[in-house]
Amino acid sequence: MSITFRPTAQLADDARTFELSCGIAGVLGEWTGMANAYSEAAVHGLVCTNHLCQEFGADVDETTPAAGVEVNLANGRAAWVLDLLGYGELNEGDDTAEQFLARVMLTEAEVSFDKGTAPVELDARTVEGARRVGYLQDVLGALRNLATYCRSQGSDVCWG
Ligand SMILES: [Zn+2]
Repeated sequence: MSITFRPTAQLADDARTFELSCGIAGVLGEWTGMANAYSEAAVHGLVCTNHLCQEFGADVDETTPAAGVEVNLANGRAAWVLDLLGYGELNEGDDTAEQFLARVMLTEAEVSFDKGTAPVELDARTVEGARRVGYLQDVLGALRNLATYCRSQGSDVCWG
């Protein structure tokens, strides 16, 4: 389970770009629109000698700048970061880019450097993975980048 922070404004399909690649041919090219990209990937799978390509089609990776600013966090990490930002226990929500950016920058100024943690055993079946040194600063930096992008696009920020 995870939570993704992203722009609220959804781009029209013909404004989204996708790169196709596979293990044999490498990068096959860039296509506009998700439907086009997936049908091209499927067509390539029919002629490719790579068995993964035959089974699943070529790899499709979104290259639209908006896709690059999304921030995906595991639920536990997201709840922690949202709490630090002052959004409490909201597992999904939205805010204006301006407000979100202000909260991120305030949090960046307030929190101390993340020294990381060893893995934590939450109960007999659940272990929360170790957190690397500087993790929180990296996440806040990515969220600041997202908020800045949203502001430049006139979009709000949402998460869920
Ligand atoms: Zn292929």
